[in-house]
Amino acid sequence: MENKKELRKWLDDMKLSHPLLIAGPCSAETETQVLEIANELKATDTNVYRAGIWKPRTRPGNFEGVGSLALDWLNKVKKDTGILTTTEVANPNHVELALQNNIDILWIGARTTVNPFIVQEIAESLKGTDKIILIKNPVNPDLSLWLGAIERFYTSNIKNLGAIHRGFSTYEKTKYRNNPEWQIAIDLQRKLPDLPLILDPSHIAGRRDLIFDLCQTALDLNYDGLMIETHNDPDNAWSDAKQQITPEKLKNITQNLKLRKVSDDDEVYQNQLNKLRAQINLHDDQLLNILGKRMSVAKKIGALKKKNNVAVFQSKRWNQILEKMIVEGAENKLSEEFIKKVFKAIHQESINNQDEIINN
Ligand code: PEP
Ligand code: MN
Repeated sequence: MENKKELRKWLDDMKLSHPLLIAGPCSAETETQVLEIANELKATDTNVYRAGIWKPRTRPGNFEGVGSLALDWLNKVKKDTGILTTTEVANPNHVELALQNNIDILWIGARTTVNPFIVQEIAESLKGTDKIILIKNPVNPDLSLWLGAIERFYTSNIKNLGAIHRGFSTYEKTKYRNNPEWQIAIDLQRKLPDLPLILDPSHIAGRRDLIFDLCQTALDLNYDGLMIETHNDPDNAWSDAKQQITPEKLKNITQNLKLRKVSDDDEVYQNQLNKLRAQINLHDDQLLNILGKRMSVAKKIGALKKKNNVAVFQSKRWNQILEKMIVEGAENKLSEEFIKKVFKAIHQESINNQDEIINN
């Protein structure tokens, strides 16, 4: 993508405080609820009020949103509080209604990002708009699908883009409702360094007590903003009740978060950092060198297996290596999770190499 710099411009243009804070209920329920939450949010740092009005539910029978009726309520929020507004759009009809009603920011939901057909339709319906469009990650952990959606908007000449990281579905249950898979968002930042990135800790956590730590991690990773579901009566919310927090709690969270600077020009800091980075570079070279050596031995084993017509994968040997490395890893203060990831990757590469040798 060209002109990536333009992507971050809207944050500065709108003089929005950093990090951007988007808060408000999962769903607009009633006019009173919407306005009451907005009124309570005045006492927080919220710059943008969120409320879903067309709700994509995983299963039928759940509350599907009040629909276009709530567009008026959002305009009242803006009039009463001066806070900007945002809602989710999932088709060109939603786009048309949201634009007609001057909603400031539109977001694309996780269940929409997975579908290139619908993303394309929405992108075309927004062609050339100055509106800010925020694109949530797809429900499945697929960076190229996320990037593809962003690219569709960008090629529709929509320059005020941002991404929202809301976590990814997994079959196995973890403590999160949607696994954060931070690496995917880090890779997105690496590929599009000027794309504003916002964390939605609510849909990652699925429960209130994990929200603070997720927000702090995001700030430590240099995210540009937070989108936090906030409700005046969370326990009785019509959707996502378990993860919503009160405006009071939101205030408490933002007051306790530690803001990190992007960098620091301080000379002492820069000197120390450069020295440490030189050491890291040296170790990275050593790592590559030793990995190369290990792989050439693996290739020799591949040739030997070929000569003797022995299978590439030897499960007993692999289990021995892994067990030994986990123990020795712990002695070197390396976590079991890390050791498993690293050695699985090394082992897979050896297998690929040996496989090629055996079959050629
Ligand atoms: C939401 O923000 O309320 C929502 C439906 O989110 P997601 O698309 O991330 O599931
Ligand atoms: Mn929600």
